[in-house]
Amino acid sequence: MKHKPTLSIIIPCYNEEAVLPLTAPMFLQKLNGLISSGKIAGDSTILFVNDGSKDRTWEIICNLARENPHYTGISQSRNRGHQNAVLAGLMEAKDRCDITISIDCDGQDDINAMDAMVDAYLEGCEVVYGVRSRRDTDTFFKRFTAESFYRLMNWMGAEVVFNHADYRLISSRVLQELANFKEVNLFLRGMVPLVGFKSTSVYYERAERIAGKSHYPLRKMLALAFDGITSLSVKPIRMITGLGLIIAILSFIGIIWAVVSSMIGITVAGWTSIVCIVCFMGGIQLLCLGVIGEYIGKIYLETKARPRYIISERTYEDGKSHET
Ligand code: UDP
Ligand code: MG
Repeated sequence: MKHKPTLSIIIPCYNEEAVLPLTAPMFLQKLNGLISSGKIAGDSTILFVNDGSKDRTWEIICNLARENPHYTGISQSRNRGHQNAVLAGLMEAKDRCDITISIDCDGQDDINAMDAMVDAYLEGCEVVYGVRSRRDTDTFFKRFTAESFYRLMNWMGAEVVFNHADYRLISSRVLQELANFKEVNLFLRGMVPLVGFKSTSVYYERAERIAGKSHYPLRKMLALAFDGITSLSVKPIRMITGLGLIIAILSFIGIIWAVVSSMIGITVAGWTSIVCIVCFMGGIQLLCLGVIGEYIGKIYLETKARPRYIISERTYEDGKSHET
């Protein structure tokens, strides 16, 4: 049986002065609840990551840290976006705790799901995804766009857990491996499944924001989807190759058609040669573009320098627990 794990709750905050004073005590209460129920160690913490807020958020975090030792905070030098803020928190915590739970600070994700997450960890899971069971509180528009987002992602070859945002438990062991993914374009939802290890999901209902307003309008969501697809998959390039092939075949048929028409004599002078050249060039160009794209795709994946393998078990003791 494992010893009591030290938990670190990672909370990205960007311009959240309206909601932080309301939700911070809720997180603390949950943490204390988990500690007193004996599931986690007493030195567990809450780590706020200030993502270059322009309001009083950092001041609030500093005050909280003075108030109670369970509250801790780090601040990014400037706004880098949600994904980077979460990663900064995870990397900061990875050597100081056994498990992390990342959660938004707006109270939308049900903190009571944390019990089930920790239970799943104690039963041997290294990653526990928080999955929304319903989206009743979201407007039709938000629900429609958000669900289309997951469908589009999967269709484009980026594997993501359906209806899972960034509310999840990750063990420090998985974080050590995640640290080896050196990519700059972050899409944690796609990267964590790539690391592997035993995982499961817990379901919760997503509530409305307690205060303040969303930082994820449609524009940012589309940007995130685009980032996710292009950083996880080269399927768009493959689609260009496919399109090139189809156009090349059509062009070939076009050439035959032009030649036949010319032989039957129903064309004006010069038409056949022009159609042949246009079709030939069009087909060849797209096909070549696709082939070049394939190589660029390979180069792209190589430049990420992702780990080529990750060992999860050994029958013997490993001298050093992990390499960096
Ligand atoms: N967030 C951040 N940096 C940003 C935008 C948002 O750290 O540039 C944080 C924000 O404080 C919140 C979480 O990311 O804790 C999710 O943002 P939000 O609630 O606005 O998104 P939504 O839930 O509407 O998708
Ligand atoms: Mg939110």
